[in-house]
Amino acid sequence: MSFDSFPVCLCLTGTTIAANLAALETQRDKIDMVELRADCLDPSEKFLIRSFPAKAGLPCVLTVRRRSDGGRFEDGEGVRLVMIAKALSYASSDANANFAYADLESDFHMPAIEEACRTFGTRIIRSRHFIEGMPEDLDAAWEPLIQEEDEIPKLAVTPQNASDLSRLIGWAAKLPDRDRLVIGMGTYGFPSRVLARRMGSLFCYTSFDSPGMPLAAPGQTTPDSFISTYRGKETGPHSSLYALLGSKSILNSLSPSIHNTAFRNMGKDALIVPLPSESIESALANMKLLDAKGAAITVPLKEDVLPYLSFVSTDVKRIGACNTLVARDGGWAGYNTDADGFERSALEFLGREDFKGMKVTLIGAGGAAKSVALSLHRKGAECVILNRTLSTARTLARKYGFTWGPLDDRAIDVVTHYSDFIVQATSVGMGGEIQGDPLDFYEFDGHERVFDLIYRPAKTAFLGRAEASGCKIINGYKMLRYQAAGQYRLWMGEEPPREYY
Ligand code: NAP
Repeated sequence: MSFDSFPVCLCLTGTTIAANLAALETQRDKIDMVELRADCLDPSEKFLIRSFPAKAGLPCVLTVRRRSDGGRFEDGEGVRLVMIAKALSYASSDANANFAYADLESDFHMPAIEEACRTFGTRIIRSRHFIEGMPEDLDAAWEPLIQEEDEIPKLAVTPQNASDLSRLIGWAAKLPDRDRLVIGMGTYGFPSRVLARRMGSLFCYTSFDSPGMPLAAPGQTTPDSFISTYRGKETGPHSSLYALLGSKSILNSLSPSIHNTAFRNMGKDALIVPLPSESIESALANMKLLDAKGAAITVPLKEDVLPYLSFVSTDVKRIGACNTLVARDGGWAGYNTDADGFERSALEFLGREDFKGMKVTLIGAGGAAKSVALSLHRKGAECVILNRTLSTARTLARKYGFTWGPLDDRAIDVVTHYSDFIVQATSVGMGGEIQGDPLDFYEFDGHERVFDLIYRPAKTAFLGRAEASGCKIINGYKMLRYQAAGQYRLWMGEEPPREYY
């Protein structure tokens, strides 16, 4: 089988053949092959499996995954055996009407079926799934999968942290060359999916995530996301790699989409992928293994990275946090583009050159607020900083000669005084466990200009209330794009393209 570029496989988990074919049709222009997850089919549909490849019109993988391997098949092995045998039986002289691949687990050995596969050109994917974690000994887990030269070994494990992912990447890099599939499932395994080609995998499994068609395995991307957001077909093992470092929530970040679109449009052989990391040490270890050229850093690693920098920019020194890494002379140069990003979007929003003469309330004293405070100071604002933890507000405010206060109704008068421009820089309103309105004790009267650094959701409860009171509002989306433009400038050494603006 030949593909123009790296093949994308769509896993079909619908309960009927018709539903699977309908899903396939919506994705046909993006995919090269499909996996029929026959374990997800309704019992009456199981008689139709044999006819699926001819109807699909694409190379098909047959999979009947047991529950213990992360699938939905619950009947005994005898029933499973019959299903697989029937699906592969009456092989057609037209190879397109047969399954191109059959996924058989390492403990499934049925000589008659394997012989039939070999005779009729169905390649066996010999698989093993570790859905609860990572085996200690990856070589031992791999061994049963490589017994037959013509089979495709497939190892799917579930890294529990970024160190597990390091182990997987490092191990896969040393495997001898052969057709294979090595997959990290779940949040920490995500990079191994979008970097399927770099992992040496034969193709990338993707899912059509919609009602009635659940994700086939944790951490799978959609075909669109693999191709568009992560440039899965256009980039390869030697493309320049950049990482987005942060906690698990970075999988929802818009940064990869923004940067990868710009890389594509500028003809760069480069891509950025999220590397969720529980510590800066494991993040940097993965960067080294992947030979990454730089990184965008987000919470909670912006401060943790400081001891590892071989060069520290002036903004990083002032702010005390770093959001951009550039590989330089075997070390990491650290920069911060958040202050510039905030400044540009805020001044554009206000229609001003600077903040001189403006009385500003800054809510929050974390990493983002530190960048905002630097910008407010250097462009001449008078400011009060309010924070849940008063001591942090005090430390930040003192640095710039600002005042400070608690984030509760004792601050009503001070907010009223500093109300030309109100900047929300806490995590409150992002959703999940941190919902709410951090300024709920204050009533807007409509004259305030209001900026919330949060961009997802696009309108927090705080921003919605300000707008309803007649205030002019802006969220953090433009700031995100502008700080990303600064990162592009640092990584590529050239002016950022219009995609960022
Ligand atoms: P951070 O360093 O963890 O700081 C979090 C801030 O939120 C602290 O001031 C913290 O107060 C406050 N906070 C957290 N939970 C709270 C609660 N339940 N009640 C009251 N205050 C609470 O995070 P960060 O890097 O500054 O990020 C803050 C926000 O800015 C995030 O939503 C992030 O997405 C956004 N951001 C946006 C951009 C952009 O480009 N648009 C860039 C950077 C950040 P304590 O000090 O009391 O803990």
